[in-house]
Amino acid sequence: MEEQWIEELPEEARASAKVVNELTSSERTCPACLTVFAAGPKYCPSCRLFIGG
Ligand SMILES: [Zn+2]
Repeated sequence: MEEQWIEELPEEARASAKVVNELTSSERTCPACLTVFAAGPKYCPSCRLFIGG
C-alpha cells in the first residue's frame, strides 16, 4: 500500500526514485568519473572529487 505511489509514476520518475534509494545503500558513484566505491570516504578515491558524507 505504502509503495503504491511509485507504481503511478512515469518510468523516468521511477528511475529517479530508485537512484535516491540507492544513495542510502553502501555504495557511492562518483558523478564526475563514475567510479563506484564503498560509502565512507568523502572524496572519490579516483579523482578526489568531494562527494559529501
Ligand atoms: Zn571521481
